[in-house]
Amino acid sequence: MVEAVRTVVVRSAPLPRRTFRAFVELEGMYRNMVEQLVLHAVNNGITKFTRLKAERYREVRSLYPQLPSHYAYTACQDAAERAHSFLRLKRMRRARKPYPEVRSVSIWLDDHLWRAEGLTSISLATHRGWLRVSIELSKHFLRYVNRGWRLASEAKVKLDRGKRRLVLYLTFKKEVSEYRPKSYITVDVNEDAEAVLIDGLVYLFETNLSEVTLGYYYRRKSVQERYDKVYGPGSRPARRVLRRLGSNERALKREVRWKLAALIVREAAKRQAAIVLERLGREPARSMIEHVKDPQLRHRIFQAAFKGVQAAIEEKAREYGVPVIYVDPRNTSRVCPIHGAEIVYGRNRHGVCSRGGEMWHRDVVACYNLLLRALGGDGGYAPSRVRATIPVYGGPVPLGLTAAHEPAPIARGAWARWKSLGATSDYKLMRMSA
Ligand SMILES: [Zn+2]
Repeated sequence: MVEAVRTVVVRSAPLPRRTFRAFVELEGMYRNMVEQLVLHAVNNGITKFTRLKAERYREVRSLYPQLPSHYAYTACQDAAERAHSFLRLKRMRRARKPYPEVRSVSIWLDDHLWRAEGLTSISLATHRGWLRVSIELSKHFLRYVNRGWRLASEAKVKLDRGKRRLVLYLTFKKEVSEYRPKSYITVDVNEDAEAVLIDGLVYLFETNLSEVTLGYYYRRKSVQERYDKVYGPGSRPARRVLRRLGSNERALKREVRWKLAALIVREAAKRQAAIVLERLGREPARSMIEHVKDPQLRHRIFQAAFKGVQAAIEEKAREYGVPVIYVDPRNTSRVCPIHGAEIVYGRNRHGVCSRGGEMWHRDVVACYNLLLRALGGDGGYAPSRVRATIPVYGGPVPLGLTAAHEPAPIARGAWARWKSLGATSDYKLMRMSA
């Protein structure tokens, strides 16, 4: 059994002033507790909730005796997580300040601090007793309710001061059993595309994720320069524009990754196939993004294009009970899947097998080698006698055909509209024109 987890955002109806004021007071007390806890945690190198709670719970609890005691408990969890990520950034020398700032607060809730009252309202425990607020039903929320997801006890709440309402982050969970795979779909992730081997064909889904990252990077840089000239460095208007750019960037990347992950996972579920991914290291040691000099930027491209895509596939796979297998990525595009000999690459990601002399596209090679490794089962090289005749999808891999050595590129604008593979005529048209 695997567990799928999703966060769903729900908004309350606008609240009466008095009720909203109670939540503003609650937020102030909670923020203060978190600030003190984070300071203590960072000073003492604490990243574990249990230790922070053991050392500090009593003290923060006594700060606000009128507050339900579980807020002190969730504040410890919140602070431990903030300290943990701050200390990690510091170790990587990517922290800009000596202490983490508690800037935006969402109040963490557990089963003692809130409860759902049917589908249309929830109650929250506060220093002024239980307060009931009605929530706006959204299609998104109802979809989870109706599809067998269960509402978990952990939740977060944020205040929307402009509209005087609450924004709730609810957690839905679902247990799914993984099936036994009948075949494999392999995914080779690159900075700007994902190559996917399905039914003996390699599809190259363009994501342009590194372009997105670079594009936003340069836009941010020019905004910063322009505003710094007028307002001085680090001004408020500049920060506002940069924040908006940042959130647009995140939303776009999220959408690209999520849509493509959904497409791949649905195809896998349809075939009862497992998804095979490369086991990635922590650092972007891959030659393909070495041309980016700025280490921070390289890190971001890596996170967006490689780690992010894999995380989305994993997350979606859990929901459908699709097994995900990780294999060793070393040399996956260097060795011919048929002959086991080195491939000599020229330009345009094309190469020639040094033994058989046949032409290969780099991403096709990678996809087939991932398949061989999955079949080998140990994440290392598959035994060489398996190479030539692997029965997959009921027949041998059609490696004799030149067509199979060429991936079929599909632009982001095209696949983003697909519900399933080749559902529209776009793909066929494109193949004909290619
Ligand atoms: Zn060969």
